[in-house]
Amino acid sequence: MAEDCIFCRIAEGEIPSEIVYEDKDIIAFKDVSPQAPIHIVIIPRKHYTSILAIPAGDAIMGKIQTVISRLAIKFGVAEDGFRVVNNCGEAGGQTVPHVHFHFLAGRNMAWPPG
Ligand code: C5P
Repeated sequence: MAEDCIFCRIAEGEIPSEIVYEDKDIIAFKDVSPQAPIHIVIIPRKHYTSILAIPAGDAIMGKIQTVISRLAIKFGVAEDGFRVVNNCGEAGGQTVPHVHFHFLAGRNMAWPPG
């Protein structure tokens, strides 16, 4: 755990969040500032600053993919569709330096993103 990391603190239960999925490796919670009717943040419990910090061959990406599928079913959007976003670094729009994936659904998404 990184002491000053807000997502590590959420994963530890030190900061309250509305958790929609958790297991020993991953936690998914409702974004406090939702950008779609369904906006979930998926994080590994282990602190990686960004997707670039995940070691090659680490199993976490496959586990995250499984959680994405579970969320699509749980929220009933597997058929309609949804968007998964990873913001990486400053130019990518990342504001919290603990790797995370946005699961967005419940409206039609625009392209290109802002
Ligand atoms: O990709 P980015 O780093 O900008 O995303 C961080 C996300 O974490 C934001 O959507 C923000 O609303 C969310 N957040 C949250 N709960 C917090 C702090 C941030 O859901 N306590």
